[in-house]
This record gives sequence, structure tokens and C-alpha cells, in this order.
Amino acid sequence: MHEFTIAIAGCGPAGLAAALLLARGGHSVVLYDRFPAPQPVGSGLMLQPSGMAVLARLGLAGAIQARGAQIERLLGLCADGRTVLDARYDELPGPPAQGLGIHRASLFEVLLDAVTAAGVPLVEDHQVTGSSVRGNGRWLQFADKSEAGPFDLVIDGLGLHSPLAPPCGRSLPFGALWTTLPWPQDGPFRRDRLEQRYRAAREMVGVLPTGTRPGHGEELSLFWSLPADGYEGWRARGLAQWRAEVTALWPDCAQLVAQVSDPDQVTMARYAHRELPAPAQDRLIHIGDAWHTASPQLGQGANMALLDAWAVAEAARLTRDPRAIPALAVQLRAWHVTLYQWATAFFTPLYQSNAAFPAWLRDTLLAPASRHWPGKQIQALLMSGLAGNPLPRLGLTRIGQDRA
Ligand SMILES: Cc1cc2nc3c(=O)[nH]c(=O)nc-3n(C[C@H](O)[C@H](O)[C@H](O)COP(=O)(O)OP(=O)(O)OC[C@H]3O[C@@H](n4cnc5c(N)ncnc54)[C@H](O)[C@@H]3O)c2cc1C
Repeated sequence: MHEFTIAIAGCGPAGLAAALLLARGGHSVVLYDRFPAPQPVGSGLMLQPSGMAVLARLGLAGAIQARGAQIERLLGLCADGRTVLDARYDELPGPPAQGLGIHRASLFEVLLDAVTAAGVPLVEDHQVTGSSVRGNGRWLQFADKSEAGPFDLVIDGLGLHSPLAPPCGRSLPFGALWTTLPWPQDGPFRRDRLEQRYRAAREMVGVLPTGTRPGHGEELSLFWSLPADGYEGWRARGLAQWRAEVTALWPDCAQLVAQVSDPDQVTMARYAHRELPAPAQDRLIHIGDAWHTASPQLGQGANMALLDAWAVAEAARLTRDPRAIPALAVQLRAWHVTLYQWATAFFTPLYQSNAAFPAWLRDTLLAPASRHWPGKQIQALLMSGLAGNPLPRLGLTRIGQDRA
């Protein structure tokens, strides 16, 4: 075992999973985050069989599954009732598979508890502003002008706006409003489905079951597509107008939007599409959203972050030279990352665009093709995060699949 000193910047899924894996691998790890006290950022998300493979090897799959909602199917209907998206996990070959809808706070809590139990120090209230190599290690710089180091390796898990990564990529024309609401016990929604309704690709409303968050009971995430520059206008038009628009598209949502009495219950998420050209640098690697960001339409970001974290730990296991870790980890992940960047860039406009062509393509060509072999299997592979076969090269297997 080779013990390296490693600083991890950022306590999202990428940073927390990397901290746990590397600490368990015998390395000396310290985590930094800007928050004054540990807290997750954002709302509900989908964990896929790809990300669950990492959580299973961390011994956390059971705890995560107990908090989330097992999702069997992703169903999308047009306003006129036509089904244009019906992706089922049971189309995957191999052991039974599901997605897991979960509140971000639940994922965060399970990972943080494990990191704390592993004895990893978490330094809060430290806004990272930069890093540099001096002598035999890399240093981190903070907003209060203090520094920490030298480290054999710095891992950048600071997310989309990482100050350690050069700007790249583009903002997407659409984002979405997100809110977390109590699950309606006698409502029309199914606990095992992520459902969406569309008007062409201009409007989209979705309901994602997110299981039971401790202290909150059973919940769901409601999301509503909105142009990236549309938030101020949405607030100005008022909640009554929004409730009417959502209900016109999907009448079952009336009881959900009726619970939103204050616009501050709803958060605007803006999306970006970017991939760093050089994620591996001298004693520095960018992982998760700091390396690659895409619209959440395919539900992959947190799962990709977990796979990236696993790749760094795997690279640290394989080499005695900490300077070799970044390139090795990137090599293990690059193909899958690039494949999903392309796939997400292709699929996102089919669901979020003002143009007529993407919705026409979705409804008249892709929807019929996805109902038959091999379309429905390809769709299930893409949704599950398993397209491109990312697990074997990382030494991972799906839950329920025997290890070689
Ligand atoms: C609305 C929405 C829905 C999504 N749905 C899904 C989904 O269904 N499935 C899925 O897999 N993914 C989804 N994603 C994407 C997913 O949330 C991200 O890909 C994932 O959170 C990335 O994890 P990360 O650890 O790389 O970064 P983050 O989760 O962004 O964590 C970054 C951490 O760094 C800290 N930080 C940031 N800057 C600094 C600084 N300068 N100094 C110190 N600390 C700092 C932050 O406080 C935070 O703790 C969604 C994203 C959005 C916005």
C-alpha cells in the first residue's frame, strides 16, 4: 500500500466518494468545502445502475436504497396523450435493474456519515480560489489568502463553476424550475416511475419520486422546463399563471402546484454543456462536474461523478507515483465521458427546445424506433449509464452480477 497525501476540494458526490475510497485505500485525505456546515446542493436526482455499482462496492447501496424510490420505468407523454418515451430498466440484459430516485440530501447524508466514520477530516468554510505546484507538491489557495499543502495530489470536485478549471463549454438555452413536495398518498402518481409531459419540446413538466428523507416523510421532485433567461419573467407573471400552465399540460399536477404558495419554494437550475480538454494536470485531477457537465436530461451527472471517483482510487491503487494518477484515472474514464457528452447533446433538444424539428424527430422517428429491438435495448442502456460498457475497465460489476 502506498500512502499519498491527498486534498479533495468539494463535498459533492464526487468529492465525498473519492474521499471515502482513498481513505479506505490507506491514503491520508483531507476534504475542503466552502459551506459553513455540511449541506447538499440542489434537489432530487436519479441514481443509475452505473453509479449504484460504485455505491455497492462502498457498502452503501442498502442504506441508499432504503431512502430512495426504486424506479422501473421512465414514461413521457405528449399533451395529446401519445407516448413518446417509454424506457424500461427491465430491457437491460443481465440481472434485474432499476434506477433510484433520491433526494440529494439523502445521498449526501449517507456518503458524509461514511466519510466521517472513516476518519476523514472535513475543513468547512474554506472557499477554494486556486492551486499551484511548488517544490514537491501541489498547494490549495483559499479566499482568506491562506494556503494548505503540499499535497501529493489535489482532486478538484468543485462542480460546474470550479475555480481550479479553465472556463469552457456553453450555457444551455433551457434550465428548469425544481421543487420538493410531499408525496400525495392518494394521488395518481406511481412510486416506480419518472413521468414527464411535453408540449412539443417547448414545455415539459416532470415528477420524480424521491423516496423518504429522514424527518420529511415520502417526497417527490417536480420540475418545469424554463428558458435559462426566463426566471425573472416567471416570477413577474406570478404563481397563479404558472399553476395554470402546469395544469394545462398535465392536469394531475394540480394538487402538487397548489402546494407552492411562495416562489422561493422553487429553485431555478441553469444547465451547461462542457468537457475540460485537459482534466489531468500536474498533481491535479478534475472529477465530476468539474471535468464534464451536461443537461440532466439523461440523469447521469452524479453517476458519472461516482465513476470518476472510483477511477481515481483505482489509479492510486495501481501506481506508486502520485503524479501518474491523474492521467491513469482519465484514461479509465475518458471514453465513457465523451460518449455521454455526445448522447446528452443529441437528446436534450428533443425535450428542451423552441424549434419544431427536434420534437418532430422525437415523435415521428425516434419514438416508434424505441418500441422495438434494438431501439428499446439501446434506450435502456443509455438511461442506465451502461452504454459504452464502463464498468469492466474499472473492475466494477452491476448489482446482482457476480464478480469474475
Ligand atoms: C436540477 C438538476 C437535476 C439533476 N438531476 C440529476 C439526475 O437525475 N441524475 C444525476 O446523476 N445527476 C443529476 N444532476 C447532475 C448532478 O447533480 C451533478 O452532476 C453532481 O451533483 C455533480 O457532483 P460533483 O460532486 O461533481 O459536484 P457538486 O455536486 O456540484 O458539488 C460541488 C461541491 O463543491 C463545493 N464548492 C463549489 N465551489 C467551491 C469553492 N470555490 N470552494 C469550496 N467549495 C466549493 C460545493 O459547496 C459542493 O459541495 C442534476 C443536476 C441538476 C442541476
